[in-house]
Amino acid sequence: MDLTSRLSSFSFEYDGEVVPGSYEDFYTASYIKAEMEALELDEVTMEPFKLVSWDYRSASVEITSPVTQNIRARSMANSPSTPNGGAVESELVFVGLGRTQDYENVPGGVEGKIVLIERSVVMWYTTPSVREAAYHGAAAALAYNPYRDPEALNVDTAHNDIPTLSITGNDAAYLKELLEEGPVQVKVDVDNAITENADAYAVCGFIYGSKYPDEYIIFEGHHDHWWCGSNDDNAAVASVLAIAKAIKDAGITPKRTLVFMTLSGHESGTGGSKESFWDWGLGSYYFMTSVHPEWAQKIVMSFCSDDVGIWADYMYVETTPELQGFLRKVAFDTQVQKLMYPVIYTPVSSFDSWGFYMAGVPACSIYCGALSAIVEEAYYHTDLATVERLISPEHLKMDAAFRGVGGLRLSQAEILPYELTETGKEVREAVDKLLGVVPDADMAGVLAALDEFDAAAKELQAHIKSIKKPTKEQVAALNAKMHLAINTVNPYLWDQDIGVENPYPGWCSVSKFETYAHDLPLLRLAIDALERGDPAAAEIALEGMTTMDWGEHVSYPVYLDIVWLFAGTPYLNWATGHLPWLTDVHQEHSSVEEKAQSNGGDLSWEISSLSEKLDTAFEKLGMTSLDVSDAFNEGAMVLSAP
Ligand SMILES: [Zn+2]
Repeated sequence: MDLTSRLSSFSFEYDGEVVPGSYEDFYTASYIKAEMEALELDEVTMEPFKLVSWDYRSASVEITSPVTQNIRARSMANSPSTPNGGAVESELVFVGLGRTQDYENVPGGVEGKIVLIERSVVMWYTTPSVREAAYHGAAAALAYNPYRDPEALNVDTAHNDIPTLSITGNDAAYLKELLEEGPVQVKVDVDNAITENADAYAVCGFIYGSKYPDEYIIFEGHHDHWWCGSNDDNAAVASVLAIAKAIKDAGITPKRTLVFMTLSGHESGTGGSKESFWDWGLGSYYFMTSVHPEWAQKIVMSFCSDDVGIWADYMYVETTPELQGFLRKVAFDTQVQKLMYPVIYTPVSSFDSWGFYMAGVPACSIYCGALSAIVEEAYYHTDLATVERLISPEHLKMDAAFRGVGGLRLSQAEILPYELTETGKEVREAVDKLLGVVPDADMAGVLAALDEFDAAAKELQAHIKSIKKPTKEQVAALNAKMHLAINTVNPYLWDQDIGVENPYPGWCSVSKFETYAHDLPLLRLAIDALERGDPAAAEIALEGMTTMDWGEHVSYPVYLDIVWLFAGTPYLNWATGHLPWLTDVHQEHSSVEEKAQSNGGDLSWEISSLSEKLDTAFEKLGMTSLDVSDAFNEGAMVLSAP
């Protein structure tokens, strides 16, 4: 608790904000390193990795007419500066949610003007709405978030291509009142310096294992943060150090090596010329791809916590499947349920666990949630997310207890409690779901590979049971075999969700087959509808396609621009190799919509174009199936090797 408060009260600008790759990052990492050294860990390291950083030099919003008044504001991360080092002064236009149709009735358009945008679920973050504003020629954007406390200033990652500032809900309401009475003039100034190759840091403290020193158990939290970062993620960083202290104080000698880790680059770390949609969670991505890729063979389990220690009703534990049962037992034994309802499930999603997952490492993410949105949603990534408001000592202790007990049990186990049959179950469920809606999908290869993997896993399990007293060498060999099988198959379970299960793209992950199970039937529905001359029904089907929930509300160039951020840029970062196939039906949708309204027209272009795209999607499904079955075949070979 004390450390959470100290980490949340640095005197940096914006209540102690730590931008990845900034001086504040270096300072915070050094501070944590010193804390670890004071605990007399066996070794403490602080290693740099490169990402895009920025420096907010200034940001302001001033009403210049009909009144003169400054409004509290700050620029969004990576926001471009106002041109020529000066301010932009122009008429303010409220464009609602900033959808393309919101511009239809703006008299005189918004060319050169400053737009006021309400952030929304459908136009997640501000990416589609600000890019749409830029497309219509707006000079700058002010954005407010109606899901936050009206006095709070929300800032987070956003891919804005014009200067964009965050203002409070109350100030937005005031501006709208002024607009109802007549024209409003505002002056906006943003000076934001972007550094392309900045150093961000990973801090690691070690307690070496006495018996299996090359097998690691990770306790992680991210030390970069928006605003003071109390719950996101200083509480988790404090919990990492609390676990280290408790183990040192108890004089426990672990059999495996314990690694206490904090990473930067969680909140945002791309932009500038390296722009990518996947700009968060980069710390664990860079750690596993460039700082220590060889750790993929060493990490037995990675416990990441993010947004913990808050007054919460639920403790969510997202995990890779093989340790789900183990974590259930840990939750029960640490009596999580006395404080919070534990929800333990797969898959892992876009927390730092994703970077470990991609490397094939068993990983989990722990985060807390409240029944009442007042606790988290209202303050999330705002200046009001203070220690006093959000942090509860009991909840913070629970995070340390759960991770500490889980980590120590894995450290002291001989044969590791990996349940490999759980892994195949995940894929089998996804295949069943796909076949339920696309019965002609060829999944025979995947199912055969799963059968083989399960049989090998069961055989190995029986073999392990049959050994009465395994030697150290036997234990090490059996664990290594299971670990290699996990390494081999795990990265083939899930893709990043572009909007099937969650309206915010990139927020969670879904089975490799989920996007096909979603899109293929809709494509067929649309084609069938067009063939019987019913464009209105086709329109509805196409609106359900992945990316169309927001896609239908932006113009085509903006749509392509955003899809490029998802899938086209060379800087896909942690989405690389983990993206579902996206079918672009934007133009077919527009023309079908027009024809539905005008009640007529020839539909043959739409039919043939969608049919071609259906064929392509089937082809991509075939390739995905092949990848998955190859991985499980290889995994089965690993498990059954002598
Ligand atoms: Zn976080």
